[in-house]
Order: sequence, then C-alpha cells, then structure tokens
Amino acid sequence: MQACVIDAPQHAVLRTVERPEPGPGQVLLRLEGSGVCASSLPLWEGRSWFEYPQAPGAPGHEGWGHVEAVGEGVTGIAPGDRVAALSYRAHAQFDIAEASAVVRLPASLQGRAVPGEPLGCACNIFERSGIERGQTVAIVGIGFLGALLTQMAVQAGARVIALSRRGFSLDMARQAGAQHVLPMDDHYRILEQVKALTEGRWCERVIEATGLEWPLQLASEMTAERGRLVIAGYHQDGMRQVNVQLWNWRGIDVINAHERDPRRYVDGIRRAIALMQDGLIDPEPLYTHRLPLDRLGEALELTRTRPDGFFKALVTA
Ligand SMILES: [Zn+2]
Repeated sequence: MQACVIDAPQHAVLRTVERPEPGPGQVLLRLEGSGVCASSLPLWEGRSWFEYPQAPGAPGHEGWGHVEAVGEGVTGIAPGDRVAALSYRAHAQFDIAEASAVVRLPASLQGRAVPGEPLGCACNIFERSGIERGQTVAIVGIGFLGALLTQMAVQAGARVIALSRRGFSLDMARQAGAQHVLPMDDHYRILEQVKALTEGRWCERVIEATGLEWPLQLASEMTAERGRLVIAGYHQDGMRQVNVQLWNWRGIDVINAHERDPRRYVDGIRRAIALMQDGLIDPEPLYTHRLPLDRLGEALELTRTRPDGFFKALVTA
C-alpha cells in the first residue's frame, strides 16, 4: 500500500509499505481520506523529542473510509461498512483501528468527508461548555473548532459573539449564525464592545479556541460572574499568565475541555455524526483544502501558515 512518511522535519514522502493486518479486536480500514490536524504541527516542524522517520501514516488520526477486513472476535462491524475511526496512522491507503474506535456512518452521509476526531472533539468541548438557551456565548478564535462550536451554540439557542483576527473567519462565523462578530485587534476596545453588548454582565460562557496567551486573558475578562471559561485551545508551548484574582472575584468555573480517553473521543464522534445527519452542524464549508496523499507536506504547511480562507485541509487516499 501507499503511505506517507514524515522522514525528517518538514519533509514527507509517499512510500510503498506492507499493508497491515488486523489483529484480534481490530479492523483494517481502506481510507478515503484523513484530516490534517494542527496538533501534528510540532511533529512536522521538528522537536528534539521526536524520532524520524515516523511510522508510515503517522500522525494521521482523523481518518474515514470503508472496513476492508476485521480481526478475530470483531462483531457488529463488517467488511464494506463505511466508517469514521480514531486510528493513528491514517495518512495512508490503509490503517488499523481498534473495533471499539470505529463508528459506522449513515447512508445519508454518503460521499461526504467525515474526519471523525476533530468533529468529536468539537462535540465534547460543546458538551463541557454546558451552553443553555438564552445565554450569551463568546467564542474566541474562529478556526475549524471555533466555527463548529459557533454552529452548535447557535443551534442550542445561545446568542454568539465571535472573535477572530481574520476577516474571512468572521464572515464564516456570521454564516454559522453568530449574532455579533468582533475583529480581534485591541484588548480594551474589544472589552468595551463586549461589555456594551452584555450590558455590563459579560458572557455566561466563553470558549477560548486559539491556544494563545492573550486570547486566554481576553476570554477571562469577558466571562461573567459565576460564568464558565472553557479552554479549548491547546496551550503547549510554555507557561501562561492569567488573572486568577479575577477568576476568584467572579467565581468563574474554568474547564479544560480536551479529552484524553479514546472512548470519550469515540462517543463525541458518534454524537457529531448524529448532528450532521440531522443537519444541525455542517462542517462541509470548513474543509477548504483537499489534497492527494502524496501532498501531505503541503497540507501540513497550509495548516501551519493558515493562508487567507484556510480552515482545514484533508488529504485523500
Ligand atoms: Zn486532530
């Protein structure tokens, strides 16, 4: 089979490698494609703790396709089923997944891309946000995740204030139903605007979806008394300064909304698929770049540089 191999930082090549065999409790997937994830960027850029070459297909974890074969003891999933799966070497034509990490796709999603993991991630974050009808929700950072969360919050009957540095992201947020969109430029100007929009009460829910320090500080200051600050961004590149005094004073609930347990991811994927089926979320306009497998490197570069109009790249097998 063909698989993409990241053999050095910022270098990916298509290689012919042996097709894996599913062991007991596993499933062999014939992939249609996989999403390219910003969490793969440290590996792409190079860090001293990573080893190269990486395993063929790594770190693709957002694959979907058809079940090609099942291992011993697998029930409820059969060859030919179309599925989304949480696997770990999905930048390839085939990959192995645990049967428990495979979710069957309904016929109504035929022909549509379903990178399960980021959709499940959005669902899990949304669930932990505890958003209720009538609340004001600020979403700080409108990338793939922020845009999906906007759709979900609007569906839940919340009033959404979307913030982004990028004009086309604000357009997307509006399209997703955000009632207010604010360019992320000046700290105090933004706070003044949000204060005015909420008549000084601030926002019951604030979701930070950037992974950067300033937006986290901004998000803290926009959270209402006894409100919930949801950290959906990955803060992996060092320490953060936040105003804990303000958190204390307002009695803010701070939620770190990313999950570690694969079972939670799979639950999230299942819920995301149900929402797509019911037409309550539509990730389609967010898949802005589709490239063939042999151009994984380009897809990762797009994810890193985020050119105008970029939301998410998919590579297709
Ligand atoms: Zn991902």
